[in-house]
Amino acid sequence: MKIRGIARDLLQALLSSAQEVDREGGGREFVAVLREEDGVIREFLFLPFTSTQVSASLRYDLMPLDPHVAGSAHSHPTGALRPSDADLRFFPRLGRYHIILGPPYSESSWKCFTSDGGPCDLEVME
Ligand SMILES: [Zn+2]
Repeated sequence: MKIRGIARDLLQALLSSAQEVDREGGGREFVAVLREEDGVIREFLFLPFTSTQVSASLRYDLMPLDPHVAGSAHSHPTGALRPSDADLRFFPRLGRYHIILGPPYSESSWKCFTSDGGPCDLEVME
């Protein structure tokens, strides 16, 4: 499935959720699974995960078998908007598009990467 973009309301929900987890968890990472409909990322699933200030990992055993999974979104409370070595091992396990968000959690403080860690433009759609 070719992804054309991400819905603006979903992006805003991701940013505010990541900000909340950061604030309430004392700088913890936020992780979510992204779902697409008709080539647009429109939904995220919150899955049980464990996270610390430097890492977060999903419970793969609880992952739904879902053909609409497009990738993942997670936060880097440090603000470094690039994949870590652990991210590069994790990305290929969960779809092709991976968003990293960081403070100040504004519409410009996120980036999208492909599974191999290369930058990827994702259009924000109304
Ligand atoms: Zn990361």
